[in-house]
Amino acid sequence: MTDETPAPKRSHGRVSISLSGQPRDLMGGPPRVKGAWTARIVTLFPGAFPGVLSESLTGKAMDLGLWALETIDLRPFGEGRHRNVDDTPAGGGAGMVLRADVVARALRAADAGTPGRARWPVVYLSPRGRRFDQAMARRWATCDGITLLCGRFEGVDERVLEAFGVEEVSLGDFVLTGGEIAAQAMIDATVRLLPGVLGNAASTEEESHSAGLLEHPQYTRPAVWEGREIPAVLLSGNHAEIAKWRRAEAERLTRERRPDLWARHETGRD
Ligand code: SAH
Repeated sequence: MTDETPAPKRSHGRVSISLSGQPRDLMGGPPRVKGAWTARIVTLFPGAFPGVLSESLTGKAMDLGLWALETIDLRPFGEGRHRNVDDTPAGGGAGMVLRADVVARALRAADAGTPGRARWPVVYLSPRGRRFDQAMARRWATCDGITLLCGRFEGVDERVLEAFGVEEVSLGDFVLTGGEIAAQAMIDATVRLLPGVLGNAASTEEESHSAGLLEHPQYTRPAVWEGREIPAVLLSGNHAEIAKWRRAEAERLTRERRPDLWARHETGRD
């Protein structure tokens, strides 16, 4: 770590405090349960966090200290008076690339106090990465935390990804302007699997993608809406029949909509 490298700043509940070079402010904010799962985000836009994560179940869990969010602003790690973070691509072409030396300083700051990659993955959000899925969220939820590097422009100099043992993970086969939305989606999917975050733990066992099937259709009151009735079995009170119906519907939907999942489900059963 160079003299210029400031420590990561803790965010205080709903307010994501960006790196300013000031001493760490330990005042105020929600409690943090000891060893709480922590998402550390390296980004040029710390103001984008916590974003939607401050709402509803993830926000409540953050307020309770069940997980924590820390943003590391890439800008102060930039070069020169203007704190430049990017430069033109080697070999020519459109756009700008985030510099290896600048990103390395931020990642070194993010590494402070982390237990190693097995318990604290370091991930670059990238359309070239392995596609994020429920299994990955489950694995991340068993770690102590995660560092997520959000790219911008044309991306990040390849050398820093190699040097830091960074995993590349994609939100899907499309291109976003930056990694921040992808990071929030992946944090949301992970945080809801942490112990105590969802009131009803059973709800993560039966939902889509947990047993390799999509979820069955859901209904609630009114029993008749614009002439459409709730399937009678769901109002029968017969729990065995209800479970059977739900299972059959989950299988039907998976077969119809996701032949890829269905094929894997079928082979998994052999
Ligand atoms: N030139 C790159 C795309 C850069 S998009 C390429 O063709 O692969 C700018 C940034 O947005 C990326 O660095 C990445 O951090 C983020 N990003 C874009 N699409 C993404 C996706 N599908 N999943 C995760 N992050 C994405």
